[in-house]
Formats: sequence, C-alpha cells, structure tokens
Amino acid sequence: MRRHARAVRAQGLFDEVLEGSWKEEPSLRQLLRLARFRDVTVVPLFVSEGYFTGTVIPRELGFEWRGPVPPGGLTAVIDGHRVHYTRPYGVHPDMAEVIAARAAEVCGEWDPARTALVVLGHGTGRDRQSQQAIEQAAAALRGRGRFAEVQALYLDQAPRVDDWAALTRAPDVVIVPFFASEGWHTQDTIPHDLGLTGAVTEFPELPGGPRRVFYSRPVGTHPAVTRVIVRLVEDSLDAPLSPEEPAWRAAGAALLRASSGEAGLAVGELQVTPLPDGRCDLRSQVDAGRTDLTTVALSDLSAWTGRTADGTHRPIRTQRSLPRGWWAEVETSELRAALHAVYPAVLEEAYAWENGTLPVIPWTDTAERQSGLYAAVRRASPAQVAQARHKTCASCLRTPLWAGEPLSATFLTGDPQALPCPEACTLLVAAVREELGSHQETPAQGEVTHV
Ligand code: SF4
Repeated sequence: MRRHARAVRAQGLFDEVLEGSWKEEPSLRQLLRLARFRDVTVVPLFVSEGYFTGTVIPRELGFEWRGPVPPGGLTAVIDGHRVHYTRPYGVHPDMAEVIAARAAEVCGEWDPARTALVVLGHGTGRDRQSQQAIEQAAAALRGRGRFAEVQALYLDQAPRVDDWAALTRAPDVVIVPFFASEGWHTQDTIPHDLGLTGAVTEFPELPGGPRRVFYSRPVGTHPAVTRVIVRLVEDSLDAPLSPEEPAWRAAGAALLRASSGEAGLAVGELQVTPLPDGRCDLRSQVDAGRTDLTTVALSDLSAWTGRTADGTHRPIRTQRSLPRGWWAEVETSELRAALHAVYPAVLEEAYAWENGTLPVIPWTDTAERQSGLYAAVRRASPAQVAQARHKTCASCLRTPLWAGEPLSATFLTGDPQALPCPEACTLLVAAVREELGSHQETPAQGEVTHV
C-alpha cells in the first residue's frame, strides 16, 4: 500500500494522497478528517470484491451502501466531503495486462502454442463474487490468444490448483498468483503444496510427459497496479473539483502557532523543537540533548515509528511505545506531515475538539456497526467493555471521550499528554471480543450495553 501510494504521489496528479487501513492508524474512520480537500476518492487496494469492499469499508467510511459496489462506484456527502468510492483495482480490465507482465517476468518469450497460463486466486466457498475478478481476467487473456490455454484455479474452492497437471495440457505452465501481496500463501503454502522449488520447476515424470511450471510473483505488487489505481480515480471524477477545506487549513495554522515558541511543542512522547534556520527537530522526548541519534527522512518516518524498539508492529500509534534513538529534521511546511507520520490524525482531532466540532461516538454505536466476527461485541456487558478499556486504553496516550472520560485541554493548548479519542479503535473492539471469549457472563442476544 505504501509503495503504491508513494508512486501515485510522485506523479503529482493529485493534490493529496492519503493511506488508511481498517485495523491500524490512520484508520478508515479517521481518514476523512485528515483530507485537505472536499473531494475525496477512495480506492480499495483489494484484488477482488467481497465482504470487505462491499460491507466493511463503506460502513467504516460512513456510506449507507452495503453489497457489491456498482461499476461506476459510489458517491455520497459524508462529514462535509464529497466521497467517491471505487471498486477494487483487481476487477479493472487492465489487470489482464498486469498478469501478462508477471508471466513475462518468469518465462520471458514464451511459445503460445506450448504454454498454459494459470491465474491463481484464493477463492472462498462463502462468497462466489470474490472469484469474479479472476474469471474476468482469465477470460480476457483467453480471448487474446497469447497462451495455448488459460485456466482460473483456486486454493480454497474448485477447480483447485492442486489439480493443475490434470486441468492443463501444455508442457509449460505459468502460474500467476492473483494476490495483493507476498505472504504466507504465495511464499509458503503454494510452493510447498505444488512442490515448486523456485521460479521454474521441472516435473520430468508426470503422466503424459515432462512438464515445466513457472511461478511468478503476485500481481498486486507489480508497479503497473499504480497505473490501474490512477485510472480508477480519474474515472470517478465526473464533477468539477471543490476547494480546500477551511477546517483543514485552520488546523495546520494552529499547529504552526503552537510549535513556534522557543520551547517548541510536546505531543505525547514526541518533542518538536524549532531550529534557528526555521526548520524543526523531531525526536522522542527521552532523547532530548542526544547527538548520537539515527537521522530519519520524512518519507521513512511513518515506517520507522510504526514499530517498537524490539520490532513489534504499532497499529495504534498513540500507544506509549514510541521508539527512541532517532531524529528527523523537517521544514516548517512539512511539520504537519511529520506529525501525521508519527501520530496520525491527532492534530485534526485535537483541533476539532478545541472548536467543539469533534463528533464523539459512544460505544453502543461502535458496537452496533460491527459485523462478521466482531458483531459479538454487541453482547458485551458494561463490565466487560470497562475491563477491555482498562487493559487497552491504560497504555494509550489518548483520552477515551467515547467512554465519558473528561479532557480539559489538548497538546495545542499546553497539555502534551492530552489527545482526544472520540471513538473506540479497532484494538479496543478486538479486546472487547477477547473479554467475551474469556468470561462466562453473556447478556441476552441483541442486548446493547452502555459505558
Ligand atoms: S480506544 Fe483506547 S486504545 Fe484505542 S485509541 Fe482510544 S484511548 Fe487509545
């Protein structure tokens, strides 16, 4: 996701490129608050349609829509933004060429008369719609006649990739995983289950004669996917674009004011110090005065501070575990981006709270919104939610306003430790679910509790 976002940003086609996730910060719930302009297009980085693209993402963004996203995408006014939501990149017709490009990487100039292509999807018995993108891409490539045969095969549904030798006839077979990124399946289970030993594997003794299997990298990490993402955005822009958000600009001005004093600005565990040349020094507060720190570029700051000192992932960045031992020097004009890299959305939320415009979402609403595995949290008792909050929020810098905790200032007005939390995060929701699993007490079905 980061690599594609960086590549889109580098093209300079859009005034702003933001990244958001369901389970880490900035979350999909925070994303619109961060957007500088009124028009926002959201492209889901998924290879196929399904529960996440049709239910979870629209719901988290604030769309009423649930179900398969129509070809033209969705448009709605949400929190003052005009939000366009596209289908996932995997269903775009240009993905057929990305598959062909991946095939070319492993087998170069293949002979169309003796080469079969296998487009390999995960598949699921639960949602037939998820195979649509793979079938569509396979059909497009079949029609172009560049392979003797093209098969769409799957890991978790028929026709299965385990049967590739029986389902294809050509002596050479190119398998291209239709996956978003490298991972357990592409690197472990697929090669292991098929007996692949690398990019090319010889099978000299199969019934019907010797075969060769070429195994490519997954489609989702191919640089050409960036072009597909851009095309999806361009296709969604059918109206004149609207101007910058006044609230976005005002939040940036508040940050500059708060950080311009000689002492700089403390935010959570971060210290921002203005330098004589007009730039700013950012580092962990515990590293004040040190000269032996590693210099981190602004472009690497999010990834660098996204892990603890021992390498543990920090999905919620305001947990008290900001790594130490680094510093970054940025222009004043880059300060907002730098703060966002360390603590996503805290500026926008603090500014909105100071101005009385931050919507606080009670636990009951958050619980009601959950679906799938997490729908169970609706049954949590107040004691179970309080217990989850005690375990999770105690190590977080934010003050859970959603649970009724008071906040009298923010870091913008002098209290570095005061960061508003308007809505239970995914970590908290997961903790409530764990509480349900670890206690016998379960309220009646459908009961929604208050905290
Ligand atoms: S819910 Fe708790 S842990 Fe999550 S961001 Fe808010 S205060 Fe932090």
